[in-house]
Amino acid sequence: MSQRILVIQADVVQANVIRRSLLSAFDATLQVEWVRNCAEGVLRLENVSRQAADPITAIIADLFLSDSQGVDTVERLLRVAPHVPILLLCSPQHEAIARLAIQRGAHDYLLRDNLNSEVLMKSLLSMIGRAANIGALFEENERAQAVLNSIGDAIISVDPEGEVTYLNAVAESLTGWPHTEAVGQTSEKVLRIVDATTRESVPNPLTAAMIANETLVLPPNSICIRRDGVEIAIEDSTAPIHDHHGQLTGAVMVFHDVSAARAQAMRLSHLAWHDSLTDLPNSTLFNDRLTQAMALAHRHGHKLAVIFVDVDRFKIVNDSLGHLIGDRLLQSVAHRLQSCVRSTDTVSRRGGDEFVILLSEVAHAEDAGICAEKILADFSAPHFIDQHAVQVTASLGIATYPDDGTEAETLLRNADFAMYYAKDSGRHRYQFFKPALNLRTNGQQTVDDDLRQALARNEFILHYQPKINLMTGDIFGVEALVRWHHPQRGLMLPGEFIAAAEASGHIVPLGRWVLREACRQARRWRDAGLPALCVAINVSPLELRSDNFIADVYAALLETGLEPGDVEFELTDSVLMHDSDQVIAVLQVLKQAGVQLALDDFGAGRWSLCDLKRLPVNTLNLDPAIVRQLGTGTESASIFDNAIGALMGMSIDVNMKMRVVAKGVETHQELLFLQSHRCAGGQGHYFSQPLEVPEITKLLEEIVQTQCLLA
Ligand code: C2E
Ligand code: MG
Repeated sequence: MSQRILVIQADVVQANVIRRSLLSAFDATLQVEWVRNCAEGVLRLENVSRQAADPITAIIADLFLSDSQGVDTVERLLRVAPHVPILLLCSPQHEAIARLAIQRGAHDYLLRDNLNSEVLMKSLLSMIGRAANIGALFEENERAQAVLNSIGDAIISVDPEGEVTYLNAVAESLTGWPHTEAVGQTSEKVLRIVDATTRESVPNPLTAAMIANETLVLPPNSICIRRDGVEIAIEDSTAPIHDHHGQLTGAVMVFHDVSAARAQAMRLSHLAWHDSLTDLPNSTLFNDRLTQAMALAHRHGHKLAVIFVDVDRFKIVNDSLGHLIGDRLLQSVAHRLQSCVRSTDTVSRRGGDEFVILLSEVAHAEDAGICAEKILADFSAPHFIDQHAVQVTASLGIATYPDDGTEAETLLRNADFAMYYAKDSGRHRYQFFKPALNLRTNGQQTVDDDLRQALARNEFILHYQPKINLMTGDIFGVEALVRWHHPQRGLMLPGEFIAAAEASGHIVPLGRWVLREACRQARRWRDAGLPALCVAINVSPLELRSDNFIADVYAALLETGLEPGDVEFELTDSVLMHDSDQVIAVLQVLKQAGVQLALDDFGAGRWSLCDLKRLPVNTLNLDPAIVRQLGTGTESASIFDNAIGALMGMSIDVNMKMRVVAKGVETHQELLFLQSHRCAGGQGHYFSQPLEVPEITKLLEEIVQTQCLLA
């Protein structure tokens, strides 16, 4: 590339001397421009940078110009062309000023009197060479700065004393310290690092790397506390810096913000250990905690307990109210379970409607029973989900360490057995594990499979239990009660299989069979000349919601020629969990058609008077447990008697138009009490057990003749 020299010289002769010397010393590629004063020189240099005109390689300027002298000349020129080297020409008496000008930025000076081609060439070449080197260094430095500022990592460097010498733009934003303020400060002040958990200060990595004289990284949980107090998770690599003699000249730390990555890692690890629906610990975390708790219990010689909790009839809620409500119910259950235990205990969801609780330290096994009672009590209150008040119960099984198992797996399995037993024996209760439970619960697993076959194999039969008019002694109806002649287990009562049939959905075909069979039996009795009886049929809410229920009821009535009023459907309180518009609509259609509707288990605590207003029923069947307490004479019993008496009085209330039938009447005393309170009907062993068809038929025939049941 050609060299272009700007000569600033007022004296034309002198200017020509310079030009000639230059041209003779350099080849033809050298170009010389001449201006007379500083202002023209500045103008020329400004044009270069403004218009990108040919650059000036070097300036040869007289120390004294018409418009500018000495140091002032140098400063004016450097202001417009900081990287262009300046060679000054002066007379010997002004050498001192020339040296001062060099301190201000001129590269060199020559004495005008000694000027010849060779001297000029030498100084000019050395000057241009030096300027080129400085320019390259400057460019390199500029480039390095640009690179350091454009990378995503923060960079901070210190001198051997630990004072900050540099930090890039990212480091400025992560520390909150601008470069200008940070430089010269100790790195401890600019860079505060603590452990996120312990909050203890982490040794300054820059100092540490210099002391260790090797590359180091921060401990994994480090956070940088920015100048404004904001905490940022960081990762780094810090290395000592040496000069080419191997002397330590400082340290550099490269670090970056890992807050997002660390939060994501924590989120993933949380997901791996927790149930996504309830946010409770999942089985993996639970098993881990159980194993640890067992090890601790072993070391300190104390007990712990595992409680299996299964929501009763959850499937029904899920099927009838939908999965969304089902999910919300499980969340609410999870919340309640947590509120029943200490913060050191663990509640976990094992899947579906099954939860398991670890009571990490119990003094006595009975303490687990107290906790189970608390859970059962808490379960009784309805869960309010949207506009639904969903009420569910739970069955609980308890196993304690070390009595019921010293392995986590055994303990869990035994708590599970106990829970099945609790469910099997009527639900909404808890059961401690006993070795004898194993056999029974193992058997339970097969009920589901057997139910599938039982209908096809005609293994079900109906027993009938009479209902008595307590004023006249007439039998006004019979209740059909299903039994299962199980090929291996013998005669099974509904308590042993209805729940399984409901949970598996087998209840729907089973219920249809009961409906048809009961109607056909009623027809047979009529055909045999016996008086018309109302036949009561128990229906599960799942049947009410099943397809074509109403149509199938009409079909059964049509087939047998019974009137709608000859059939009564008995509803259990599980209808409450299906308290949907659909169920109420079905009941209303049936009621309008003239079918009788009764609520079973009334007074056991689940039904309320509000339910009576909403559900279109004709009859309240008093729960046997209530009947058992009637007329026992104690103070609390008498309050109870009055309440029940008032309820029975409702049977003659014209508005409610309901009658009360006492179920489970076993004693004469109970009968007398019921009669004295004008209770309309009664059923129970006092009158008759549920009977097989030949026996009940015989009883009906006898009654027709003697009406002796009240005797
Ligand atoms: P429920 O409707 O309350 O039926 C009355 C239960 O009380 C019957 O038990 C009956 O044997 C029993 N019982 C009768 N008199 C007395 C007495 O004096 N004292 C005592 N302690 N108990 C008495 P069972 O037959 O075991 O039926 C139990 C429950 O199973 C029934 O209760 C009913 O809810 C359900 N169930 C029976 N058959 C069917 C059916 O075909 N379909 C459906 N979905 N459920 C049924
Ligand atoms: Mg019933």
